[in-house]
Amino acid sequence: MEVRLAEHAGFCFGVKRAVDTVYEQIKIGKNIYTYGPIVHNEEVVKELADKGVKVLASKEELMSLPGGRDFRADPCDAPCPETKVIIRAHGVSEEIYRILEEKGLECVDATCPFVRRIQKKAAEESDKGKHIVIVGDPGHPEVEGIVGRCKGPVTVLESLQEAEEAVFLDKEELCIVAQTTFNYNKFHDIVEILGKRGYNGNVVNTICNATEERQRSARALALEADVMIVIGSRHSSNTTKLYEICSEVCAHTYFIQTLDDLHLALPKAVRLVGITAGASTPNKLIEEVQNYVRINF
Ligand code: SF4
Repeated sequence: MEVRLAEHAGFCFGVKRAVDTVYEQIKIGKNIYTYGPIVHNEEVVKELADKGVKVLASKEELMSLPGGRDFRADPCDAPCPETKVIIRAHGVSEEIYRILEEKGLECVDATCPFVRRIQKKAAEESDKGKHIVIVGDPGHPEVEGIVGRCKGPVTVLESLQEAEEAVFLDKEELCIVAQTTFNYNKFHDIVEILGKRGYNGNVVNTICNATEERQRSARALALEADVMIVIGSRHSSNTTKLYEICSEVCAHTYFIQTLDDLHLALPKAVRLVGITAGASTPNKLIEEVQNYVRINF
């Protein structure tokens, strides 16, 4: 039986950069917080927590940070020396930067440059008066961060049905962008539906290469494999999408977060087990699963 890893799997450039940033800051040794978990992977977050990195779960938690103070009430040129807040790869809204500045907290910005590019594009086109359409998950922090850059009208569409039902003003110019981790085919379907309904605009495919590559190579492997294992967090949107894509073409697709979730009873006829992993899954975990399947089956 062959065990094969998808050509592109695991940490993407932006996530690796963000995680490396946290480890660099640990070496400097300040009181470190990340605004939200640095990646959607519990294992990575737990490892960082063991090294003293704390996660801020909300804006309210950021506002009540120990050591933080109201900059307006207590103006001071220097940032609070004890505390650093790291912004994760998928970015935050302008409001969070404002709060950090007002509180005089030091900010280390690990927003992925590709996410920053969408934020910039959305802000520029919104300033020109366009209606910004973001194809993505409205509850995802990356999308919230992009919405926060738009001064004018902005609509988030996640499903084909929402694209069928969305209503825009007649003469309104649209600028359509996508969440970096959105399913490539679904993005095109949504754009096509809008076009058929007479809503055309400036379409900017902002889906990240890393996502496309992972989706394409996962599908290619799943087409050949008898069994597919998708590794990653259930909270990771790109891992969930990999699972959807693999399930469509491989009936025996398993979604696991760690090796503990892997309870395979493989029939003898299995020739090829394919493995893929989301952009927030560390290499260490992928190797563990690969080795386990190789040795035990
Ligand atoms: Fe950056 Fe792409 Fe990774 Fe998102 S998926 S963090 S855009 S490299």
